[in-house]
Amino acid sequence: MAAGAKGVLVVTGGSRGIGAATCLLAAERGYAVVVNYAESVTAAEHVAAQIHARGGVAVAVRGDVSLEEDVEHIFAAADRLGTLVGLVNNAGVIDVAARVDEMSIERLTRMFSINVIGSLLCAKAAIRRMSSRHGGKGGSIVNLSSAASKLGSPGFYVDYAAAKGAIDTFTVGLALEVAAEGIRVNAVRPGIIDTDIHASGGEPDRVARIAPTLPMARAGTAEEVARAILWLLSDEASYTTGTTIAVSGGRAIVP
Ligand code: NAP
Repeated sequence: MAAGAKGVLVVTGGSRGIGAATCLLAAERGYAVVVNYAESVTAAEHVAAQIHARGGVAVAVRGDVSLEEDVEHIFAAADRLGTLVGLVNNAGVIDVAARVDEMSIERLTRMFSINVIGSLLCAKAAIRRMSSRHGGKGGSIVNLSSAASKLGSPGFYVDYAAAKGAIDTFTVGLALEVAAEGIRVNAVRPGIIDTDIHASGGEPDRVARIAPTLPMARAGTAEEVARAILWLLSDEASYTTGTTIAVSGGRAIVP
């Protein structure tokens, strides 16, 4: 398949971790990829350069998903690459461990602005391009939930868990809202995945500490999550919408 022939995919937070793995695999599968990032310009450009080196199509685009003008900028870059066929709402943040009675309004606003509102704003921009209601040819959206949405993360980050719970509900509601417009909406629910996110929550050794206690006795990799995302995006999942796939090695699979 020619590079980029599958159409354009926007991956938010594509500079690092699960997003970067998703960008690389998507390009390999024939998507032209918008590698969005917030701050890590070098990392995002490295992902795009790796795709170019393999003969793929990609562009690194800065933008904070919680700001609507930035979201428009991200999707304008997608329009320049071709026809949008997919969105991966991957950008996400945690914060340092805290109890709810210690959380500042600034922390709560950031948590929900990026993890929840950012995903809704990007979905809005994608639907306006992909929905048959707006003259589009259809597409697929994959949201990043978390095992935290089922576990609640007491004593660590109930705010993050609640934000991911919102993503679960958003996935169901949006899937039904656009099901007849050619757009499928699904989510993946990662467990403990070996990325930088744990260090950004002040716990660089979190993966090593928890991994032996997990059902499969190891953490997952970003690539293992990316494979589930790519399946949900693909025509292989043509009758799958409104669902969530746990990619957690057995963690938090019981509701
Ligand atoms: P990560 O390694 O910390 O990477 C986060 C990515 O999000 C980075 O590319 C970052 O960009 C981007 N980002 C952060 N804030 C942004 C904003 N306002 N606008 C645009 N991009 C922004 O995280 P990860 O572990 O790969 O996690 C990816 C997703 O999976 C998140 O939604 C996370 O909640 C979810 N998840 C992860 C795990 C896990 O164990 N790792 C488990 C469950 C769910 P910069 O590089 O520019 O900062």
